[in-house]
Amino acid sequence: MPMTVESVYEELELDFEPDNVFHQVNSVVLQTAHMMDLPPRLQLILAQPKNEVMVHFPVKMDDGHYRLIKGYRVQHNNVLGPFKGGIRYHAHTSLDHVKALAVLMTMKCSLVRLPYGGAKGAVKVDPHAVSEAELMRLTRRFTSALANNIGPDYDIPAPDVGTNQQIMAWMADTYTNLNEPHRRLVGRAVVTGKPVEFGGSYGREKATGQGLVYVLDEVLPAMGYENYQDLRFSLVGYGNVGSWTGKLLSERGARLEAVMDHTGAITREGGIDAQDLARHVAEHGGVKGFSDAEPIDADTFYQKEVELFIPAALEQMITLGVARKLNCKVLVEAANAPTTPAAERELVERDIAMLPAILCNAGGVAVSYFEW
Ligand code: NAD
Repeated sequence: MPMTVESVYEELELDFEPDNVFHQVNSVVLQTAHMMDLPPRLQLILAQPKNEVMVHFPVKMDDGHYRLIKGYRVQHNNVLGPFKGGIRYHAHTSLDHVKALAVLMTMKCSLVRLPYGGAKGAVKVDPHAVSEAELMRLTRRFTSALANNIGPDYDIPAPDVGTNQQIMAWMADTYTNLNEPHRRLVGRAVVTGKPVEFGGSYGREKATGQGLVYVLDEVLPAMGYENYQDLRFSLVGYGNVGSWTGKLLSERGARLEAVMDHTGAITREGGIDAQDLARHVAEHGGVKGFSDAEPIDADTFYQKEVELFIPAALEQMITLGVARKLNCKVLVEAANAPTTPAAERELVERDIAMLPAILCNAGGVAVSYFEW
């Protein structure tokens, strides 16, 4: 009997929740598995992560009080190699969120032929609301709590939203010091995205944006766009992925029409200078207040006429309401799972092409592989 999304969920005794990002990702995977005639046992295996690790660990804050912090590591599948995937620090994260992102890592590594499986992790904390010393203590405690579930040959975390190379260095240092003395040096390979002087790779920081631009180099001519000089683009998110995408596409000659992040949205007649904006964001934490652009509201931002609209922030930001406003030819998914199924149907109906995240943002994990 061929399986459907419904029959897999019935077999697993799961209720399908249409607004839940894990169930949304699962339904895409299972519909594809159905089209491929994948054997039922493989569909069942793919529909649930292999391991879901949840930890609670105490952290002493600077003022002396203790907080109990929640962390997750979801290991979806390791058939093709060790589990691999980022660690996110964000105040609003949940187990299902992390599960969705872990599934996408399995698909991404497999798509770009890396010998890795898929995983994802998160700590429920706003990294901007704690001091650097608190961040270090909580990272070290989280690493100790996870230590028996990660390892250079088993599960290798990396940076994601809210984490960076400093956090990876603290993780590697904590992990190596928990290890047998003879394994201490190889222990650093427990994470990628480390600082260069600590075993990192020169290309890692810009790799995700660079990978996306390489994908566009290949795909756009086939879609009839021959010259970057004729292209305008908008970005949601100007963090690691957004800012590198902005800088690299601008270097190719494309025009950065508008940017929105958690602090606001901006535009500039004739295009925004991506380098100057990156310096402003590094200094002020967001695009708000950038002097060489005009502030605009969210609706005006979405309605801007551009060839490429690039979400590079968080999941599920392109809802049906947002999709109806978009005035673009191609939606390039830089963030993971940025488009809800209803929005995707709307875009397909309006003949807006979509380039999927598992291809567009695979450059980060590809360079992580070289580092590892
Ligand atoms: P980041 O933390 O560096 O940047 C996140 C950006 O999202 C910031 O500019 C922030 O202002 C913006 N943002 C947050 N909330 C927002 C809101 N409500 N409205 C508008 N903007 C908002 O994170 P990143 O590493 O650039 O990751 C961005 C996306 O790319 C995520 O989906 C991540 O999983 C994915 N990704 C990252 C990498 C990587 O190498 N960093 C690799 C693959 C995929």
